[in-house]
Amino acid sequence: MTYPASDPAALLSDIADRIARAARIAGRKVEEITLVAVSKTHPAERIAPLIAAGQRVFGENRVQEAAEKWPALRAAHPGIELHLVGQLQSNKAEDAVALFDCIHSLDRPSLVSALGKAMDKAGRQVPCFVQVNIGAEEQKGGCAIADLPALLAEARAAQIPVIGLMCVPPLGIEPAPFFALTDKLAADHGLAGRSMGMSDDFETAIMLGATHIRVGSALFGARG
Ligand SMILES: *Cc1c(COP(=O)(O)O)cnc(C)c1O
Repeated sequence: MTYPASDPAALLSDIADRIARAARIAGRKVEEITLVAVSKTHPAERIAPLIAAGQRVFGENRVQEAAEKWPALRAAHPGIELHLVGQLQSNKAEDAVALFDCIHSLDRPSLVSALGKAMDKAGRQVPCFVQVNIGAEEQKGGCAIADLPALLAEARAAQIPVIGLMCVPPLGIEPAPFFALTDKLAADHGLAGRSMGMSDDFETAIMLGATHIRVGSALFGARG
């Protein structure tokens, strides 16, 4: 899907209106919903105008790319929150803990162990979402639903602050049932956060309980 190039402030205000409308329909407070602006593949020149327009929470999907882009942007603009929304290799755990304020892709025991150690070493507790492979897809990241209780227990034992569940529903199918299932699993485990919904479906996700929506192309335009 492509989106027309437009003034970043206008795009941001359009998304904010749509978030507010979905929240109103769902009887939720707009403050319960955090817009994570996913800036992967977009250079600092494209990101700065969104910061100027008031956006403070950003998401990247690769540690290396974030390490190249964000230190300078953060130095220039205090108060930025940076989230990792993509898969994380265990050998990048220390870099991720140093760079990010929230990690959305905790999905396996080896990563629990690597992140636990990295947080201890850095003396920095980074809130995490456990990513669930909600559509039981072969090649998708995320923990199998059946493995979720054990993974949550391991994360607790490693003193990783788990704040919720994250999902990326299968492409090309109505996402609402997957959002509803993620919401139910989070409730079953007493977790408050639900990271779900992207450019094409964030309003549906908000109506089904999303607390963090991850929006890229609707804010930045199509990725090259
Ligand atoms: C790229 C990405 C997004 C944003 O997707 P858009 O469709 O561009 O809004 C959200 N979540 C994850 C995990 C991503 O990798």
